[in-house]
Amino acid sequence: MTEDDARHRQRMARKKAVVDAAIAQAQHDKGLLLILTGNGKGKSSSAFGMVARTLGYGHKVGVAQFLKSRRDTGEEKFLGNQPTVQWHVLGDGFTWDTQNREADIASARRGWQVAQGLLADASLHLVILDELTYLLNYGYLDAQQVCTDLAARPATQHVVVTGRAAPACLLEMADTVSEIQDVKHAFRAGIRAQPGIDL
Ligand code: ATP
Ligand code: MG
Repeated sequence: MTEDDARHRQRMARKKAVVDAAIAQAQHDKGLLLILTGNGKGKSSSAFGMVARTLGYGHKVGVAQFLKSRRDTGEEKFLGNQPTVQWHVLGDGFTWDTQNREADIASARRGWQVAQGLLADASLHLVILDELTYLLNYGYLDAQQVCTDLAARPATQHVVVTGRAAPACLLEMADTVSEIQDVKHAFRAGIRAQPGIDL
């Protein structure tokens, strides 16, 4: 064995000891709150990756998509047809401008009632609240109310919230937060949204 090999082996052994100790420490189970935020691409698609994983274990999933405008997506075509997935599109009617603020607030509140139903259903192992942050940022929903409802969910239920600029109270109560950075996006090179990749 060369000196380099020996040093590498020692370094790896030290690293393994640290990783093994960390794994031994992490022994608790709980329903997690995950926030996927930031300006880069990959928030919703990551959330739907966790839906696929969860379905792989035979668990039930609830999805609430708070969309800006109605649009067909590959995730709805595929996951929305699975017998163990409850799929709700709640954004119909958002105008995303202040011209019809009252109607938007009413629509957001109706949507949140559906989400509250998912958060109260202990048979759902995972709940996705896709693009929820926009409703909070526009002041259509009260962030405190949303945080209270999230805190009151069944203890074993995992929840994933996606959307840019997640509010502080949500970040504070979350167990896992990822902020996806926008380094480059094909759209800025004039390439339109690609089915299967972007929608
Ligand atoms: P995805 O659903 O692909 O994971 P996302 O949830 O992170 O994306 P959203 O802000 O919800 O991002 O936007 C959804 C759509 O906008 C997708 O078609 C995505 O490719 C596109 N998109 C996301 N980020 C950017 C960006 N920085 N510039 C241009 N388009 C973007
Ligand atoms: Mg998204």
